[in-house]
Amino acid sequence: MTAKVIVSGGTGFIAQHILQELLNHNYRVVTTVRSQAKGDHLLKLFNSPSALSYEVVEDVGKPGAFDQVLQNNQDATVFLHTASPFHFKATDVAKELLEPAVEGTKNALKAIQEYGKSIKNVVITSSFAAVATAAKTTDTKVVFTEKDWNEITWDEAVKNPINGYRASKTFAERAAWDFVKQNDSKFHLSTVNPGFTFGPQLFTSEVKDELNTSSEVINSILKLKPGDSIPPFKGGWVDVRDVAKAHIVAFENPKAQNERLLLIAGGFTEQSIVDLINAKFPQLDLPKGEPGTADDVLKTKLATVDNSKTKEILGFKFIDLGESVIDSVQQILDAKKSKGGSAL
Ligand code: NDP
Repeated sequence: MTAKVIVSGGTGFIAQHILQELLNHNYRVVTTVRSQAKGDHLLKLFNSPSALSYEVVEDVGKPGAFDQVLQNNQDATVFLHTASPFHFKATDVAKELLEPAVEGTKNALKAIQEYGKSIKNVVITSSFAAVATAAKTTDTKVVFTEKDWNEITWDEAVKNPINGYRASKTFAERAAWDFVKQNDSKFHLSTVNPGFTFGPQLFTSEVKDELNTSSEVINSILKLKPGDSIPPFKGGWVDVRDVAKAHIVAFENPKAQNERLLLIAGGFTEQSIVDLINAKFPQLDLPKGEPGTADDVLKTKLATVDNSKTKEILGFKFIDLGESVIDSVQQILDAKKSKGGSAL
């Protein structure tokens, strides 16, 4: 009998890739979803009836949210917590972002501590946002490593949804490490801290007009008209397939225990993405912006990341930006074509 892994938030962009990676490694997987309809849809997509099942957890932030899941799956040895709101649309930051992120994490850990007697490893999907203080991300003198923490305060967090999201990841991850310290937990904790995550959806049939927050960075570029200017957004990024692989390493490799895996493959600007798309898909007739200027912007306007420790633990090479962007765009075009639209 292969080991059983519980994954919260199975409908998510990253989680679907994690589910696939786990199934490829012959794990039995139980995932949580917010409704029976979402669970049934997921089971249909994966078509792995003997290896994948789901439990409904409507809101991870409600007290006792995961108790039943852990009680029903006492043989599970690994818990991966990915479910957390990732959007910048909140009107009530505390309620819509901070509470579900922090309480969701605590609820998962409490249930594991109380009922997950066989759980040996817990992996929490945190973020680069929990590592980097926003004001430092554009300071070229700064080098971020696995040791850094976002210094954001509650007062700054509730000012706007971007701060709110970044704080939600920071406070949730802190709560997790505090929980382990304060409760003499028997399981090993690791966190995975990705930058902006690009790459294709696991299923082309799931590509919608508007995608999840990080995928929408590339999708929204495809919606630009020739005369539009290129948004100045920039940051650290990684491919979703590498993020999924890192979640497996996080519990399989003992060197990852008690560590934060900082997943940054490199820096991007929207101009660097535009340049890659224009070179590969000239027929899309996107704006050109200022081709070839991205490297200079990255060198002069972005902090450095040193994640050599993470890379050593992972033991694989990150997918590069060209492959990630091209695979993402190709999938969006394929999805449009299969819906009867023009793929150009
Ligand atoms: P998605 O929006 O695709 O997935 C979010 C998942 O969380 C969905 O399954 C969603 O359920 C679930 N969820 C959100 N709020 C609740 C709630 N209150 N109760 C139950 N379930 C909830 O985002 P990603 O896949 O991109 O993100 C997954 C994780 O990775 C998050 O923790 C995010 O912070 C983290 N992350 C993402 C990065 C990225 O660039 N994508 C970078 C760094 C970290 P439903 O589908 O039903 O809404």
